[in-house]
Amino acid sequence: MQSPWDYPDFDDHEVVHFVTDRESGLRAIIAVHSTHLGPGAGGTRFWHYEQGGDAVADALRLSRGMSYKNAMAGLPLGGGKAVILADKDRTKTEAMLVAYGRAVDRLGGAYITAEDVGIGVADLVIVSKHTRHVAGLPAAEGEVGGDPGPHTAYGIFLGVKAAARRALGKDSLAGLHIAIQGAGSVAGGLARHAAAEGARLSIADIDAARAQKLAAEVGGAVVDPRDILTLEADVLSPCALGAILTEQSIAALRVPVVAGAANNQLATPQDGDRIAARGILYAPDYVINAGGIINVSSEHLGDADEAGVKARIEKIPGRLDAIWEESESTGRNPAEVADAMAQRLIGRG
Ligand code: NAD
Repeated sequence: MQSPWDYPDFDDHEVVHFVTDRESGLRAIIAVHSTHLGPGAGGTRFWHYEQGGDAVADALRLSRGMSYKNAMAGLPLGGGKAVILADKDRTKTEAMLVAYGRAVDRLGGAYITAEDVGIGVADLVIVSKHTRHVAGLPAAEGEVGGDPGPHTAYGIFLGVKAAARRALGKDSLAGLHIAIQGAGSVAGGLARHAAAEGARLSIADIDAARAQKLAAEVGGAVVDPRDILTLEADVLSPCALGAILTEQSIAALRVPVVAGAANNQLATPQDGDRIAARGILYAPDYVINAGGIINVSSEHLGDADEAGVKARIEKIPGRLDAIWEESESTGRNPAEVADAMAQRLIGRG
């Protein structure tokens, strides 16, 4: 049997909790990777795993990702992540969420939870009745909190501008052609900001009606989702799925810049080198897409108002520039540089 210390994704995680509640049937794993900068913060995923080992691997990998993301966002938070093991039908009961809230509470604030795949705001509201270590709850008008999408989108817009400045020498997106994969929450916000600045937009979504609606609103063109990654444009902004940058797709890119919101865009670490070798400027995903977590954390910690959140998001371009500078001077690709910077910030340099 594989020892927990031998999991490929084990990275000196501080603690990993295995939670069982017989009455509700809850089974969960809560992994806290690092509390060097603050409590381990990251969402809870509700997912059906074929094997328990896959759930452990996910919790280990995602919690390390949160350490890096929170550190690079300049937040006083460490990295954590939880997975609740769902059955094949993904049966979710209130009793499970109650038991889960109690389990999070027993950790005394070492882990702060939030939304992730399969866990929505309504679930978090139930969890929050049993622990206060929850972020991402509905916010009242004028208060910090609520949907992180628009904040993520603002950070992506600023990051795309920084990339255009660096790779194309342009101070404005006016006249630039941006290809956006996805027409959801973040893509929509990005499209509105970019259109307001005069960018030309091509938009693709597997939900054709969604793409049509957004394109009509921002005066953009709809592109077949099969063609968006090979479109000739100034910027490709992946705002749909992860793992879209592969050996094959990178070889076919016709853009000088890739900067978008999707998590884990590089299918493998080698793809960071592949994209750099093609001379394409890449914005590391967890650095450029931190606007949402910045908003969620400010809500939870109560340490910023709306203007403060905006000011924090406006630091994203500076972080990207620092990464690109170091990448240029060391020859390491931007994703690798970002990981190394994050490791230094969490005291593991
Ligand atoms: P969303 O669900 O609102 O939108 C995603 C869109 O992508 C959907 O309209 C979907 O139909 C489309 N899509 C799926 N597969 C596609 C494909 N193959 N080609 C084209 N379109 C496809 O999600 P979102 O909140 O806008 O998030 C977008 C991405 O950004 C996700 O990867 C998410 O993990 C990441 N992200 C989001 C936030 C946030 O605050 N919402 C924060 C950080 C990262």
